[in-house]
Amino acid sequence: MQSKDYINIEDSYGAHNYLPLDVVISKADGVWVEDVDGKKYMDFLSAYSAVNQGHCHPRIYKAMAEQAKKLTLTSRAFRNDQLGNFCKQVTELCEMDMMLPMNSGAEAVETAIKTARKWGYKIKGVPKDKAEIIVCSNNFHGRTTTIVGFATEDQYRDGFGPFAPGFVIIPYGDYDALKAAVNENTVAFMVEPIQGEGGIIIPSKGYLQKARKLCTDNNVLLIADEIQSGLGRTGKLFAYQHEENAKPDMLIIGKALSGGFYPVSAVVSSKEVLGVFNPGDHGSTFGGNPLACAIASESLNVIVEEKLPQRSAELGAYMMELLHTINSKHVKEYRGIGLFIGIELKPEAGGARRFCEALQGDGLLCKETHEHVIRLAPPLIISRKDIDWAFSRIKKVLETL
Ligand SMILES: *Cc1c(COP(=O)(O)O)cnc(C)c1O
Repeated sequence: MQSKDYINIEDSYGAHNYLPLDVVISKADGVWVEDVDGKKYMDFLSAYSAVNQGHCHPRIYKAMAEQAKKLTLTSRAFRNDQLGNFCKQVTELCEMDMMLPMNSGAEAVETAIKTARKWGYKIKGVPKDKAEIIVCSNNFHGRTTTIVGFATEDQYRDGFGPFAPGFVIIPYGDYDALKAAVNENTVAFMVEPIQGEGGIIIPSKGYLQKARKLCTDNNVLLIADEIQSGLGRTGKLFAYQHEENAKPDMLIIGKALSGGFYPVSAVVSSKEVLGVFNPGDHGSTFGGNPLACAIASESLNVIVEEKLPQRSAELGAYMMELLHTINSKHVKEYRGIGLFIGIELKPEAGGARRFCEALQGDGLLCKETHEHVIRLAPPLIISRKDIDWAFSRIKKVLETL
């Protein structure tokens, strides 16, 4: 079979809920992927930051293969020998007390919502069914019906209503709007410290710190969705750490938590907050399964031992320096933090998609986010030499297209 045959069969039998670049990848190693025709590309998306450790990291592969031979799934009806140590590792790394494991990011966000509401009713004393959660415009928290109900992107919502009540949407990065939205029934403010899908939007300095203080003063939980921004992507282990005194009450992680091998997500928080759950309140057949725990545990070891946050900080700064030497009539702005960079094109550039297609032709895989932003987010194991290679392609496309 050739590329076009794989594409035809997928388009015939698979629902068209994505519009992928037409590259059919069949293997990968580190920052490189290879298509069915043997053509190599450098990956500058990292599966939306799920492969921060690079594709098929040998250590994570080994942990996965060894665990898969022994035990994969018990369900939580029984205990397994991997879960406890994994919970301990995650909570220590996050400097929290407890965690609740799930699978996809959206499930972890749902779990955070349920946790915050339960905390609101049981601990804060909010009247039954009155809990409010404040979220931001331009957010991306996943695709379940509850979550898309508070999205502000029309396409995420169109045709999927009716939606769950209990969410208040305020503009992202607007502290005064947050202050005005908080009331006695507010149980949480859920926010991405940096909006990834939203176009690599970085709020102004002090925003999160001020939000933290407001939440503390009003007995509101601060929930940071770090599914994409966390685990090294922005040059710190977590994006909230770019500010002093901005530690959330609940941290939602996923994506790179498994290095791309398997869906693993978690909500990490304090005893007071996650302590609201009693047996039977919440669950997941696959959540916390021993295979997931073994994979995620080694994925975290790789992030720490290979110093991926530090690499991201250094190489992100280097990449940004290079980008600013480009002389392109199409670029409105380069913005980024660590290796989490958005190139915002001017509206008259005709959309980011055609630039991504041109880069694909030159062997670099990037994905547009929203209409006008090219996101640059390579695996964090990338070398300086690889960045130079990618940069020459980006420069060429931005200057000549
Ligand atoms: C990807 C993402 C999610 C959803 O994760 P899935 O695994 O796709 O369900 C939620 N929040 C943020 C910030 C994300 O980037």
